[in-house]
Amino acid sequence: MNEVIKKMAESLRAGATMLPDNCSVCNSPLFRLENRTYCVKCGSSPTLTPALASAPPASPQVDSVKAMIPQMTSTVLAKLKKLRVEVDETSDPVRLSQMSELMLTLLKILEVLERLGKSK
Ligand SMILES: [Zn+2]
Repeated sequence: MNEVIKKMAESLRAGATMLPDNCSVCNSPLFRLENRTYCVKCGSSPTLTPALASAPPASPQVDSVKAMIPQMTSTVLAKLKKLRVEVDETSDPVRLSQMSELMLTLLKILEVLERLGKSK
């Protein structure tokens, strides 16, 4: 039991937050660190986060999406490069705000692509 409390303290020190949800396996409180949810006691990591974390299970569709990842990544990167130049040249606040929003979206897409590429 002490071991678990020690692990919880370590997680908190690492910047994790304790969640109101309990582990479905052992019922101890779940922790969340950098978009990952995990149980310090039994080490299970339930996918509570519906947003980006919910990668679909491996299937033929996923494989074909994965095959596109390198191309998609370079497309997004090319767009970001263009956008960066445009941002440099624009002083219109409205355009700037639109462009930063777009940049943010593209960066999120990159994040998702990277995650998909790493997952099995
Ligand atoms: Zn557990």
